[in-house]
Amino acid sequence: MQTAIATVCLSGTLGEKLEAIAAAQFKFVEIFENDLLSFNGSPAEARAIIERLGLSTITLQPFRDFEGMPEPQRSRGFARADRKFDMMAELGTDLLMVCSNVSPESEGGVDRLAADLRELGERAAQRGMRVAYEALAWGRHINDYRDAWEVVRRADHPAVGLVLDSFHVLARGTDLRAIRSIPKDRIFLVQIADAPRLDMDYLSWSRHYRCFPGQGELPVNDFMVALQATGYDGPVSLEIFNDRFRAGSTRSVAVDGHRSLIYMLDEMAATSGKPAAGRAPMPPRARVEGVEFVEFTLDDAHAAEFETALKGLGFHKSGVHRSKAVERWTQGGVNLILNREKEGFAHSFNITHGASVCALALKVSDAPRTLARAVSLLDQPFHQKVAPGEIDIPAVRGVGGSLIYFVDPSPHLARWFDVDFRNVASEDGAAGAGIVRFDHISQSMQYEEMLTWLLFYNSLFDVSKSPVQDVLDPGGVVQSQVVETGDGALRIVLNGSQSRQTLSSRFLSEVFGSGVQHIALATEDIFATAAVLRRNGVPVLAIPENYYDDLEARTGLSDDEIARLRENNILYDREGAGEFFQIYTQNLAEGGFFFEIVQRRSYRGFGAANAPIRLAAQTRLQAPATVPRF
Ligand code: MG
Ligand code: MG
Repeated sequence: MQTAIATVCLSGTLGEKLEAIAAAQFKFVEIFENDLLSFNGSPAEARAIIERLGLSTITLQPFRDFEGMPEPQRSRGFARADRKFDMMAELGTDLLMVCSNVSPESEGGVDRLAADLRELGERAAQRGMRVAYEALAWGRHINDYRDAWEVVRRADHPAVGLVLDSFHVLARGTDLRAIRSIPKDRIFLVQIADAPRLDMDYLSWSRHYRCFPGQGELPVNDFMVALQATGYDGPVSLEIFNDRFRAGSTRSVAVDGHRSLIYMLDEMAATSGKPAAGRAPMPPRARVEGVEFVEFTLDDAHAAEFETALKGLGFHKSGVHRSKAVERWTQGGVNLILNREKEGFAHSFNITHGASVCALALKVSDAPRTLARAVSLLDQPFHQKVAPGEIDIPAVRGVGGSLIYFVDPSPHLARWFDVDFRNVASEDGAAGAGIVRFDHISQSMQYEEMLTWLLFYNSLFDVSKSPVQDVLDPGGVVQSQVVETGDGALRIVLNGSQSRQTLSSRFLSEVFGSGVQHIALATEDIFATAAVLRRNGVPVLAIPENYYDDLEARTGLSDDEIARLRENNILYDREGAGEFFQIYTQNLAEGGFFFEIVQRRSYRGFGAANAPIRLAAQTRLQAPATVPRF
């Protein structure tokens, strides 16, 4: 199966769209007629651009309200089709996509519709062209792919075939079994879209909320597995109408689109046990076994502050890099890398983003295979010169241009701390504060970017995504979605907001782009950790009294238990028998980064009920005169 994309998916002029499509390594494109009409040139000039970019046009679309019309509209429809065929000849494509009629004037009747399509097919064939018929979910008479197939079957003409569009099929919940019995050579085009499940009319749902496969909730994989059973080996083409994509960067949306199709075909192959026709298999989604380290880029001024903060939290310096101004700080299973280099990746990241998290390293079972999968998915690999004898850890670009390193248990990579670092014995904070591991990493990004990173994590790693949650911030609504492994070895919270006033958005403007806003560290005794923090003078976020009064009513905790939480500024949540405890530090450095300390007892969530309280408390602290500094 070849991958393709319709120009309607992207924002910009036709020229910009085609450039972006070619840059995203597509070879096939559907031309949406409106893009051609607004193009400042003839179809032949558009064709020249398409060919120069190494693209081929698989179809011109859409041709609407054609079949089943009374006269004189019927004759006019054929005259319109003739003009489309002229345009297609100039554009260099042989397939016209016909959507089922939505006009109230159209008359039903399968044989009547089939006769019109047959005649259209005959006219197309005389010019060496073909037509493909699609059931719109809101078509007046034909809105089910099985009925469209019956029309095509009865048209009985080699130049008349079927379009299967996953949105139209899945939105109506149509049984997929009948797909398997359609002969593959009668399927002329397959269009792909996913969507969130929404209770609204098909037309509005389709025009505004379609998204790339894997970003929504429709069973696109079931559709693909049924399609594969036919032996279909033609194009699978994205046809997405989405307001967010129109607001996003043309180039990155095109790459996301291609990534989503590659991932979709891989999922299909994994389910059916057969690779997609004409495509090389790729390594499976990588299992993430934990977070090896988080790397911060710091200038000298911030480094001192940051080190004080880390000592307060119970970390100690455990290693010094052999050739760079880089230190390793450790507590329990948590490693933080502090990078103060004056050149290289971390430094340039610092220039653009300030003191911030510039890299994450994930433990995977096989780092080279993870990188190979990433490359197959069009993720961007990253290489940096290392000193002789030091280890070049495989990496790709992540959120905001940061890096994600892959570390595995192979003898080469497992020893990278020992090879690159000189171990140091340090007295500072050696007793620790009971931190045992990373719990979750929270990334803030533009609202438009959320689907990008959701797809990035889901396609590369063996993780699942939670439904979107709206969190109330004093400045507006923040959307939050989690990607995580089944065992919690990796939990990443993605936050995006359309309001410029939310803390999440202010973080973006202060650190100049998307990135890690907070890291949650796990303890097994939150009260013991709180005691160490207090002893060390770590400024924690003060939680208002009212919260605890409400907690008493909400949870039925005893007065003593509530008092202990209150004294330590601990937030509390419950999920069935599960319990969750959270402490937030005040911001470290100017950028708005902070740590969270959590304790979980059979609890899988992230304290969403407490998020508005925390956000309000942080917002109060953000008044310019009182920006807290360590
Ligand atoms: Mg379609
Ligand atoms: Mg959190």
